[in-house]
Amino acid sequence: MATILDGRKVSKEIEKEIKAEVLSCDKNGYRPPHLVAVLVGEDGASKTYVTAKMKACEEVGFKSSMIRYDDTVTEEEILAEVDRLNDDDGVDGYIVQLPLPKHISVEKIIDRIDTAKDVDGFTPANFGKIDQEHHSLLPATPMGIIELLKRYDIETKGKHCVVVGKSHIVGMPMSILLAGPGDATVTLCHIHTKNLEEHTQIADIIVVAVGKPGLITGDMVKDGAVIIDVGTTRVPDSSKKSGFALKGDVDFATVEPKASYITPVPGGVGPMTIASLIMNTMIAYKKRMNF
Ligand code: NAD
Repeated sequence: MATILDGRKVSKEIEKEIKAEVLSCDKNGYRPPHLVAVLVGEDGASKTYVTAKMKACEEVGFKSSMIRYDDTVTEEEILAEVDRLNDDDGVDGYIVQLPLPKHISVEKIIDRIDTAKDVDGFTPANFGKIDQEHHSLLPATPMGIIELLKRYDIETKGKHCVVVGKSHIVGMPMSILLAGPGDATVTLCHIHTKNLEEHTQIADIIVVAVGKPGLITGDMVKDGAVIIDVGTTRVPDSSKKSGFALKGDVDFATVEPKASYITPVPGGVGPMTIASLIMNTMIAYKKRMNF
């Protein structure tokens, strides 16, 4: 039976640590860190994520603000908002929640974000520094996964890690973090990878970020592998009040019996992404305040 990598529990521990730091800043007469979220449109999942991020801010004593736009907002208006947030000395970090409506270029928006306030770690400058010792703000989801592995004493050095999915926000930076500071041997798989199972079957650690429920099944995993499931897909479920259930990319029922450690969905990687956002905001705040 695998040990569950409990992202909820670890994220609470991290929140406690950050809260203590915020209290100490307050005692010394400093303002709290301030995180802003820009939310465009009415996407249910995006609203849920942003609400969870704002709630985590409150819990650690950060100031948090949400700026909302209809999905008819123009690219120029969002770029102007980004400029305002870049110039606002009272804002330490901000996120523009993805996805954005199709008429807005995500690339243009991300390119305009001040790297010092880029707490999602998406800007090209921050991305380019991922494997440097003096990196600044790391992409939140891969950063959360590395933190989760650390807190469970799971070594990546010398391990064979297979990352499935090569998105700019998860798979690609994850592979760099594992191969660079993590000293692992990394295989990066994606939609065009032939015979995916031939790669996953020899992996010590599998990180899967695809968005296809049940993609990784028990027969694709070796005994004792560590399984990190990033996938979060909403599937209709009439037994839930919300009408949907969140499903990971891993078929938990067949993979868990073979794994040594495994993240659940929900409650694994998701809370760690939020914890990373909080940690990144604290880092950005300390730099801004010259602590
Ligand atoms: P994406 O949707 O941008 O890209 C998906 C990737 O999967 C691509 O690289 C594609 O090549 C690959 N892929 C698609 N089908 C495949 C297949 N059959 N075999 C192998 N590879 C395949 O990726 P994303 O934005 O990283 O999102 C992936 C999943 O992770 C989604 O379910 C998303 O909701 C979830 N996610 C969760 C968190 C979190 O905090 N828990 C954060 C970000 C993303």
